[in-house]
Amino acid sequence: MQILISRTAFPVQALGPGDRAAIWMQGCSIHCSGCVAQDTWGTPGSTRRQVGDVLDWLGSLDDVDGVTISGGEPTDQPEALQALIAGVRRTRPMVDILVYTGRSARWVLSRGRAMIAGADAIITEPFVQAEAGHLPLRGSDNQQLIALTPLGKDRYVDGPLPDRRRIQLDVADGEIRMIGIPTPGVLTELVRRAAAAGLSFRGTSWQD
Ligand code: SF4
Repeated sequence: MQILISRTAFPVQALGPGDRAAIWMQGCSIHCSGCVAQDTWGTPGSTRRQVGDVLDWLGSLDDVDGVTISGGEPTDQPEALQALIAGVRRTRPMVDILVYTGRSARWVLSRGRAMIAGADAIITEPFVQAEAGHLPLRGSDNQQLIALTPLGKDRYVDGPLPDRRRIQLDVADGEIRMIGIPTPGVLTELVRRAAAAGLSFRGTSWQD
C-alpha cells in the first residue's frame, strides 16, 4: 500500500502526550484559510512510500508513547490511512494513536469511521482563523478533541496535554521545520525576531 508522506519525526512532544512519532501525510483538499502547513497541500512531486516502510521506521524507534498522524489531510488517502493505523495497532499495541483531520466529527464518525478504525483519539473540524485560540492541541476553538477508546480517554481527557506554548523547531537542509500548533501571533513574532537576528525567510508554509 502506497502513502504520500510529507515527513516523519521523533521524538515529538508538541502533538500529544509523551514522546511521539509524528507522521505528516502529504496532500490536503480542504485548504483552510490561515493554514500554517500549506506546504502539505499539493501532491505533485511528493514522496510516495510504502506503508510498510513507515511502519519499519516506527519499529526502529525506542520508547514511543504515541503516534500522531497529521497532514495534510489524512482522510484524503483513506486506504493508506486505514492501513497505517492498522499497522501501528498491530506492531505497537501499547501506544496511543491520534489522528488530525480537517473534516467534521459528524463526517469522520459516520462515513469516515472505517478509515480511523483503531485510532484512540481524533481532532476534527477545519482550522478557522477567526476562532484561533489557545486550546491544547487545537489551532482554533471550533476544533474538537474526541477520545474513541479507554486509552484515548486516559491520555486525552484525564491526562495532561502539552502546553501550546511549546513549539519544537527542527533545522536541517536550509529549512526550519516547526512542530506544534502555534498560538495566535507566534509566527509573526518568529519572523520579527529572526529579522532582528539578521535572518530572513525565502518562503514560509503560511501566509502573513
Ligand atoms: S489546517 Fe489541516 S485541513 Fe486545514 S488546510 Fe491545513 S492541512 Fe488542510
